[in-house]
Amino acid sequence: MGQTKRRIDRETEHGYTSIDSRICNHCVSDRHIKQFIKGIGEKSKCDYCEKNRAKTVEFNKFIEFFLEHVDSLYSDPLEVLVNFEDGETFGISELLDDIDLTEQESLRNDVEYSLSDREWCETPYYHYEESEALNAGWEKFAAVVKRNRYTFHQLDDEHFYEPIRPSAFLPALSHVISRIGLYKTLTKGTSLYRVRIEKKNEKFTKASELASPPANKAIYPNRMSPSGIPMFYGAFDIGTAIKETYSGNKEHIATIAKFKFLKDIILVDLSKIPPYLDFFEDADYNNQQIEFLNDFVKAISAPIDRDGREHVEYVPTQIITEHLRYVHHKMNDNEEILGLIYPSSKSNGKKSVVIFCENEHCVEKGDGKEDSFFELELPLRRVNPQSFI
Ligand SMILES: [Zn+2]
Repeated sequence: MGQTKRRIDRETEHGYTSIDSRICNHCVSDRHIKQFIKGIGEKSKCDYCEKNRAKTVEFNKFIEFFLEHVDSLYSDPLEVLVNFEDGETFGISELLDDIDLTEQESLRNDVEYSLSDREWCETPYYHYEESEALNAGWEKFAAVVKRNRYTFHQLDDEHFYEPIRPSAFLPALSHVISRIGLYKTLTKGTSLYRVRIEKKNEKFTKASELASPPANKAIYPNRMSPSGIPMFYGAFDIGTAIKETYSGNKEHIATIAKFKFLKDIILVDLSKIPPYLDFFEDADYNNQQIEFLNDFVKAISAPIDRDGREHVEYVPTQIITEHLRYVHHKMNDNEEILGLIYPSSKSNGKKSVVIFCENEHCVEKGDGKEDSFFELELPLRRVNPQSFI
């Protein structure tokens, strides 16, 4: 009685017909299902290969794992389709034609039998996929903040925005970054290069001359920082540091400064988006979020001509940077974010770095204080920037 009731509950809840058998990791082809079976399996005979195996699980446990992934990728036509013509529907046998699940005929038959009543469908055209929703939210956000820089979060009532309002985009972005875990720690002792380009008769030797400019001299807007808010822009390699700074004037020379971190700092790393997940791979994030981030990072690291448009075009990334610097860690219970890594727009495949520190946080070697971020490594190098272009 008790057994039967439990069985019915499970079938109603998960939508499969229960089968009393055991399955081993050798009988499935997918590596993530193999891992799942190895992870929770127990020693017994497998009913499909009929061998005694070290790791087997109940068929029902296996089919629940299988269904969990299928149901997270495909929808139930009864729930999402207005008319059945609105989206292609398919059953388990069509699905198994696309998934390399097993070579065992008997197992395939059991899976088909267990799920013979189920149907799935792709998301219909009138529903937003998560990546489309995030991308549309980002595009609206970027357009609105160029117009309503300081009041964008109060405009939601005046305009109808579908599906992510401008005021909701920053929390949505934070959520994706946190789920994927796009963080990197740069440890004490790591170095970044900064380049100062000036006329050949100018000579810079001090940390204060080679670090980010003091607030009263930070008059030009940059990708991540508006005028008046200095940040430390650098790179992991000299070539990228020069390409990001040099305008091509042959009269100029580059002073290369190597700044070494005096403490560990945590950054958001937008240069290392993980690859797409396999069908049965478990993670805290999904492929929709990866797809959005790939588009988003391409957009925020696109080259922008410095012809005056930078005053407007950099506004969305400046607001996002401010959010990651001051708000993100509070929303996600993280440690404070002290910088960003992002793909360089000038040096293909290389990375740019911005650190949230100011001129006085960059000191001469041996002069580090409690609030110092960097010390300047010696000797400095003076090079012809042309040789790096
Ligand atoms: Zn087996």
